Amino acid sequence: MSYNISITPIEKSKIDQLDFNNIPLGMSFTDHMFICDYENGQWVNPRIEPLQPIPTHPAAMALHYGQAIFEGMKAYKSPEGIPLLFRPELNAERLNKSAERMGMPEVPKELFLEGLKELVALDKAWIPPQQGSALYLRPFMYATEAFIGMRAATSYKFVIMASPAGPYFSKHIKLWAEKQYIRAAAGGTGEAKAAGNYAAAIRPTELAKAKGYDQVLWLDAAEHKYIQEVGTMNIFFKIGGNFITPELDGSVLHGITRLSVIELLKSMGYKVTERKITIDEIRQASQDGTLEEAFGTGTAVGIAYIKEIGLENETIHVSDESPVAVKVNDTLNAIKIGKLEDKFSWMTKVETELA
Ligand SMILES: *Cc1c(COP(=O)(O)O)cnc(C)c1O
Repeated sequence: MSYNISITPIEKSKIDQLDFNNIPLGMSFTDHMFICDYENGQWVNPRIEPLQPIPTHPAAMALHYGQAIFEGMKAYKSPEGIPLLFRPELNAERLNKSAERMGMPEVPKELFLEGLKELVALDKAWIPPQQGSALYLRPFMYATEAFIGMRAATSYKFVIMASPAGPYFSKHIKLWAEKQYIRAAAGGTGEAKAAGNYAAAIRPTELAKAKGYDQVLWLDAAEHKYIQEVGTMNIFFKIGGNFITPELDGSVLHGITRLSVIELLKSMGYKVTERKITIDEIRQASQDGTLEEAFGTGTAVGIAYIKEIGLENETIHVSDESPVAVKVNDTLNAIKIGKLEDKFSWMTKVETELA
């Protein structure tokens, strides 16, 4: 099915205001946004227009009751200059899983993908040329209905905006294993990419940073014993030659990088097990000398190598070098920019004649 997306181009592009050699992270946006309204049970008026503030009623339900979800993905450029998307259909599916949990309407997958591709095609000049950089894409949905009361909203907006992101240099990071605050409890919203999950994580993250750590390592809500994930990343450990990652138990975000890394590691001949992992097990492996590597996975940074995990009265040393994680990161990055054969069929080319 093809949606009739109307396009209102910007009068004068703002691209010459951006210094591609010095892109401030998350602060610059492309010329356009995709936007679509949900009214009377239907998605209507899909359009691309110049990026601008969206008028909001003070009683808009997203502001009060938090019906707001988002996605995060990137567009890369092939050596021939063709925009490439990494597994975008999985983002469309995940948005709808989040929507379901939060009592919000689904966005038809074709509408999500068409809006995304049209926007990327129109703003393709904003995909930074340097290796390691990309155009970050942020699809999101929020409740716009003006209503004070507790029920699902009846009107929403689905928007996609784009923000150029400079090269990210992976350095080894330190995690703080959090035993006071939690991110997700069984039956909660941990699996949804919901704005409220982040709201609850902001203060614990600030406190961890004040202690000298880069990110929070979240533990389970009931016992503070089982490892869930890191701030905006899933987590992997290499112990005695094999990889383990926490199982998707309902409180862990279904990371697309996580899924891809599992497939990649298996194709490299490694054993990867998804199961419950305790912080004690990681401490023990570090003491035994069997803990070889640990790393986080997520769209924003790709792979973040972990050198240390801090707890209240101790420090778990992981490793200062992460050779397998580096190899996985390099492979993933080469596939994303079309420099390595896409043997998993992960990449989607964006036809730029569309726009
Ligand atoms: C988005 C996100 C991830 C990573 O997901 P990717 O699809 O790999 O980018 C991991 N954890 C949380 C909490 C997230 O919001």
